[in-house]
Amino acid sequence: MRKKIVAGNWKMNMTVAEAKALVAGLKPELANFREVEVVVCPPFTALAAVSAELQGTNIDLGAQNMHWEKSGAYTGEVSPEMLRELFCHYVILGHSERRTYFHETDEIVNRKVKAALSWGLHPIVCVGETLQQREAGEVESVITTQVRGSLAGLSPREILDSVIAYEPVWAIGTGKTATSAQAQEVHALIRKILGQMFDPAVAQGVRIQYGGSMKPANARELLSMPDIDGGLIGGAALKADSFIAIAKAAI
Ligand code: PEP
Repeated sequence: MRKKIVAGNWKMNMTVAEAKALVAGLKPELANFREVEVVVCPPFTALAAVSAELQGTNIDLGAQNMHWEKSGAYTGEVSPEMLRELFCHYVILGHSERRTYFHETDEIVNRKVKAALSWGLHPIVCVGETLQQREAGEVESVITTQVRGSLAGLSPREILDSVIAYEPVWAIGTGKTATSAQAQEVHALIRKILGQMFDPAVAQGVRIQYGGSMKPANARELLSMPDIDGGLIGGAALKADSFIAIAKAAI
């Protein structure tokens, strides 16, 4: 039985003061919420403050990116050790915005995934096709390449410690959501690929989130599909009431 996981990707939003206020809004409903795993991923600058606010709650902390090295001459980067120091449990890797604007390849994502796991962080590894790729009938080949490339060389234990997020690029921040049938089809494909890479029994244990304009109005239907094990939420994670509603829709 896979426990559902709902994560908020705050992206480049929230000053420290705003982040504290958002967490204060989440805590009354989610601090003791156990049915679903809840994660918030603030920008780096708010991680320390949010970490302090989350002490003693059931809400986990995640980051939105990291470098693969422990330390060194990488101006502007943040290491896995630094995230661990702030009690991060999760880190989003290979988000389509990182792939598009910062030219992250599957090889780079794979390096980061391995580094995260070696530091005891759970990577949330994002994959997804563009609209152009979908219209060209390339969903299966794009997803297969991303999943195989981003997760190459992991052990069964490591893949079970990872979360995959299927985020069709055309649905991110656009208000267009994949239908539950479209999303389920790709989630089942991802699980099939994991079965081939690892073992079908291992693949059954891996959690696969859907991301792309998930909101309270569509969350329950998406989250009721057999291979959708949670959500990675952008816009709707910036307001306490909508994020709480999505977390509850996952029960
Ligand atoms: C995301 O960027 O991970 C995301 C799913 O964004 P939104 O919910 O705003 O589409």
